[in-house]
Amino acid sequence: MIVRGKSTSDDRLIDICIEGDHVAAVADAQPGKPPALGGEAWHVAPGLFDIQVNGFAGHDYNAPPFGDASVQAIVDALLALGVTQHLPTVVTGSHRRMLASVRAVVSARQERRIAQALPGLHLEGPYISPADGPRGAHPVKHVRPPDWDEFQQFQEAAEGLIRLVTLSPEWDGAAAFIAKLVAAGIVVALGHTNMTAEQMQAAVDAGARLSTHLGNGSHATLDRHNNYFFQQLAEDRLWASLIVDGHHLPPALTKIIARAKGAERLVLVSDAVAAANGRRSSAGMPPGVHQFGDLRVEVSETKRVSLPGTPYLAGSALDLPSGIENVIRFAGVSLTDAIDMATRNPWELLSGPEHGRGLVPGAPADLVLFKWHDEHKQLELTHTIAAGEVVFAAAR
Ligand SMILES: [Zn+2]
Repeated sequence: MIVRGKSTSDDRLIDICIEGDHVAAVADAQPGKPPALGGEAWHVAPGLFDIQVNGFAGHDYNAPPFGDASVQAIVDALLALGVTQHLPTVVTGSHRRMLASVRAVVSARQERRIAQALPGLHLEGPYISPADGPRGAHPVKHVRPPDWDEFQQFQEAAEGLIRLVTLSPEWDGAAAFIAKLVAAGIVVALGHTNMTAEQMQAAVDAGARLSTHLGNGSHATLDRHNNYFFQQLAEDRLWASLIVDGHHLPPALTKIIARAKGAERLVLVSDAVAAANGRRSSAGMPPGVHQFGDLRVEVSETKRVSLPGTPYLAGSALDLPSGIENVIRFAGVSLTDAIDMATRNPWELLSGPEHGRGLVPGAPADLVLFKWHDEHKQLELTHTIAAGEVVFAAAR
């Protein structure tokens, strides 16, 4: 199958030849040969990768027991948004509950297509800050100090699939714990933290590489000069993931973070929760108060997701194509850079520069075709291809 579009990396019109589940060749478009999909009016990019998804379309990775059908429903809903891979994110809870979430994801991965869509797991907590504000919506009674034995039980249940751990380095022994995770090939992110500058430096020296949803999971008020937000902003060894939904970060702050970090160190995430349903879908959660597992959340008309009666956000109802549009609008980055923030950057964060993905021969044939409306900065997704199969085509 030949797929044609302008490459988001260099605007060149290319033909991507797909054989089976992989990209066989990429070449300049041949005008005489009509493609199976796409054409001059399209852009083509790798399938998007979201490293932080708590749930979607009414299904929740943190409310076990959930069956394979729930995992499939999340995968399918995200494929319809161009997200060909994501990391199910297991957040702070009891040991038993977190283990059950991990096991349910691993069980669903027996299906080949689900395994391809879920290359790993993100553990966000329980080793985070107990402080109100930094802790965000994570339940305080389940926050605890780093525990290597417990982590190993999670990783064993995950069959080695935990790839990313978000923690706070404010606990005694955190730097040594981080060093062990890094030695085991796991990417360590700092987040939901009340850390000091010294604790942050020790964590980064031990190998921590990312700030999870920088600018969120924070006190409402910070010292104007000395605070963990500025410290992370200034630490060049830390990449940052961002929730660019217009609620978690105001436009000006999004721009400041993008300028400080540089496009090559930013990762767009949705941090989507079960209340999220995608921008053009009528399925999912209407505005109002909803119960998901242990958590009650309120969804506003503008898709702001918060803890009822508090100023604290509880995940998002964002989808990554909207995140791409927003980071272009708010921070003035290019389409190329914005796509990289949802493809190349997260692959590189997790797998290094030799990740083997993208629009290159031999890579998995995960890609999206879309039309880009520059005057409105709108991304109109038309097709998603996962492992060489067309898994989503927009209604015409
Ligand atoms: Zn969080």
